[in-house]
Amino acid sequence: MAEPLLELAGVTRCYQTGEKQTAVLRDIDLTIEAGEFVAIMGASGSGKSTLMNVLGCLDRPTSGRYRVGGVDVGALPPDELARLRRERFGFIFQRYHLLAHLSAVDNVQVPSVYTGAARRTRLSRARELLAQLGLAERGEHRPNQLSGGQQQRVSVARALMNGAEVVLADEPTGALDSKSGREVMRILGELHAAGRTVVVVTHDEQVAAYAHRVVEMSDGAIVSDRAQAARRGAEMTEDYARAEPPAPQPGQAGVAGSAARLFQALSMAWAALTAHRLRTLLTMLGIVIGIMSVVSIVAIGEGAKRYMLDEISSMGTNTIDVYPGRDWGDSDAALIKTLVPADAQALAAEPYVDSVTPGVYRNATVRHGNVDVQAMVNGVGERFFQVRARALASGISFGEDAVRRHAQVAVIDSNARRTLFGEHTDPIGRTILIGNVPCTVIGVAAEQRASFGGGTHDLAVWVPYTTASARLFGGRQLDGITVRIKAGQPGEAAERKITELLTRRHGRKDFFTYNMDSIVKTVESTGRTLTLLLSLIAVVSLIVGGIGVMNIMLVSVTERTREIGIRMAVGARRSDVMLQFLVEAVLVCVLGGAIGIALSFAVSFVFSAFVDRWNMIFSAKSLVAAVACSTAIGVAFGFMPARNAARLDPVEALSRD
Ligand code: ADP
Ligand code: MG
Repeated sequence: MAEPLLELAGVTRCYQTGEKQTAVLRDIDLTIEAGEFVAIMGASGSGKSTLMNVLGCLDRPTSGRYRVGGVDVGALPPDELARLRRERFGFIFQRYHLLAHLSAVDNVQVPSVYTGAARRTRLSRARELLAQLGLAERGEHRPNQLSGGQQQRVSVARALMNGAEVVLADEPTGALDSKSGREVMRILGELHAAGRTVVVVTHDEQVAAYAHRVVEMSDGAIVSDRAQAARRGAEMTEDYARAEPPAPQPGQAGVAGSAARLFQALSMAWAALTAHRLRTLLTMLGIVIGIMSVVSIVAIGEGAKRYMLDEISSMGTNTIDVYPGRDWGDSDAALIKTLVPADAQALAAEPYVDSVTPGVYRNATVRHGNVDVQAMVNGVGERFFQVRARALASGISFGEDAVRRHAQVAVIDSNARRTLFGEHTDPIGRTILIGNVPCTVIGVAAEQRASFGGGTHDLAVWVPYTTASARLFGGRQLDGITVRIKAGQPGEAAERKITELLTRRHGRKDFFTYNMDSIVKTVESTGRTLTLLLSLIAVVSLIVGGIGVMNIMLVSVTERTREIGIRMAVGARRSDVMLQFLVEAVLVCVLGGAIGIALSFAVSFVFSAFVDRWNMIFSAKSLVAAVACSTAIGVAFGFMPARNAARLDPVEALSRD
């Protein structure tokens, strides 16, 4: 003999209420063969729904055995139970349990979502079923736009979506007027006539009259089980009733199935998010602000750093200064006379050196006409303006020839020009007195960018160092040598080689070097520290945003408990529910991140309207990091609510409002 389709043996179901265990089902033995039409009757509270839930694998017996087609259900993992619900059972509930935010067609196709069937197949089958149930015109209606009878017919169509070898109806007519109730019973009769097994719970004798077998329950036990001559259902005119029940559609396996499920989860998440637009937007706000501040701060930091580095390099960053003495402020420095022009020439011959200028620096009185000022007089080489990367505003600099001839020529800076000549006189070609030595002004240096380092109110005059030594100050030794390193050469190595060379020439190290490169490094690391610090603050705001997402998702899970129950009842796996909520959280965060990035571009636009010296600089790295960050937040903070949803007990979830 073949295995009975459904077989309960000694099944008990207990509920723990406080201290007490209440047995809702007591020692039930019940066998239902394929093709039967069974009515379960009994007073309210007698355990009919509990029995149905056990039969439909929504609930498990506390003790006893339940076998479906010979397979012991008690030993199956949750996903296998979900598969049974999906592929073999079709549930019809008293209160329809349709998803309020979905149209009739979408409600009907929900069970096949979890088999991984293609969307087009799903939709056409859902439409077909609705048409067969007389709802062809109602496919796009939401449940609240349908009458009770129509809603129940939609839920019948949903139950049939995956084939439904066994139709389980828990008081399907309980909420309907008698006409709609008869209609639903007629449909159940037809489904039975078409070869399906039908189990219907009712306490209405009229309804039970449609069945061939009536099982009566009282206080959790079966008190009678009798066969009866069923009242004939309505005439069998409907095509669907004649048709063989479709074979259960096995889930699409492998990558295609996973992709289909992910895509489905995405579109469901989108639907859920757009159903509560304001709430979604407010949830996103935390992420939007967080991402916006992180991205903006990094961009501002990067822009500021770039600006400072530009400023520094405009002063000639790849220069190394050599001064006599042990260090700054060495009182013996003036006595050291070993730093001489020949050292500068030796350095100029080195392969890593771009250009060199010797220097003698003194304060002196500079006079033009009756104007008399103190100025810094710099005796420098012909390469000075190249070494320092300074441009001339007008005129020319002195050349090698002028240096050799101790020429009495001078380049003055714009401060000196203003003080000595006023705004309206062209100084080129005029003679000034430096100390007592007349010099011809041949050039005016361009003003240095005053914002960083170079800004000074001193007056400066440059003359050939030979002129300075021989005619102005006397003495042969230099106050310093400035070396410009070739582009791309490492500053530290060059500094070391310069030290070696000069130590060899002097016989001992009686000088020190000062490398502009170290300033660059300091600026870079200060900038990094600052950016890091600010980013940390921004990250805190991101985390706060993430907690906001978690909060809303938890509320959403609670609010949608019934939806989760429905989805599980029609065969959603735990992983499907988990995926749905996780995808929702990630979608909120990624959308929020994208909006945040867009807003920070807007910030940079506003920023550049107010600040013209420098711009915010966005790096691809920071944008990618921002997106990764918001995704991670979505996963991290969506995980707990999603897990809560996936762990819900289907029966309990269904009974919630
Ligand atoms: P029926 O469907 O026949 O009206 P039910 O199967 O819904 O009855 O419930 C049978 C009994 O089990 C009731 O007395 C009810 O109070 C109890 N019951 C149902 N669900 C729970 C639960 N989750 N916890 C505790 N008791 C429950
Ligand atoms: Mg009930």
